[in-house]
Amino acid sequence: MSDSLLPIALPVLPEDVRARLNAVYERVPGVSCDGCDNPGKCCWLTEEEMDDDYATMYPLYAVEYVNIVDYVHAHFDDERQRAVLDAVDDRPQRCPFLIESGGCSIHPARPLTCRTYGVLNKVSQVKAVAASAKGAMSPHWISSFLSTEQYTVCEHTVLKDADKVDAHMQAMVSFDYERELIGLSDAVDWLDDDRQSVFHEITGKKKPTRWTWGGFNSLAQASMLWVKRHFDKVWKASFLGE
Ligand code: SF4
Ligand code: SF4
Repeated sequence: MSDSLLPIALPVLPEDVRARLNAVYERVPGVSCDGCDNPGKCCWLTEEEMDDDYATMYPLYAVEYVNIVDYVHAHFDDERQRAVLDAVDDRPQRCPFLIESGGCSIHPARPLTCRTYGVLNKVSQVKAVAASAKGAMSPHWISSFLSTEQYTVCEHTVLKDADKVDAHMQAMVSFDYERELIGLSDAVDWLDDDRQSVFHEITGKKKPTRWTWGGFNSLAQASMLWVKRHFDKVWKASFLGE
């Protein structure tokens, strides 16, 4: 699909922005997956999850997308770079970064949504956090937190940084991480003028803020000719782009 392997110049994420992104990631407690009976099963979707419109690696914020592109440029060979940067499927059943052993090929740069998965290993813990936020947070935030976080619980993980959990859950239920990542995404100038102009023409928005790996690729990595001819269909078919 791409005329050139690397339409985005590299590296594109300013180091001060990368440091702020990594500071957000540092706040998330680590987990061990050593006892997992099926490593990586959280990185692909079952048929039922496909039918229910789930997506792997979503939401992915623009700042995280650019951070991963930098990581791919620095660590993958040309063939592997082309495979992941040419992927434009909005909702692949299997994450393109999942390797055969069940590991993550971009582990140091994986997005927030993958880092927060499995931090809690019981749905009752999610419900307790939601209950404790009642009165202090908007009911809309609490119900949104409940409806997403109870599906990211994994009963096989072992928590490594218990001391970070309370502050982490507070950040999740108050959408603190999300605000920080949206701010960083809006501040980064990662899309060239031509692509930005096509995006604006089709969507009425300045730049995408959160989307999927394939969605961002369809705008940033394909040839300009492809973007002009096909991007409108990609956008119309996606219900995850924002
Ligand atoms: S999050 Fe759960 S399912 Fe995924 S690798 Fe870790 S233990 Fe296994
Ligand atoms: S980026 Fe890594 S951790 Fe996240 S879904 Fe893909 S393989 Fe799994």
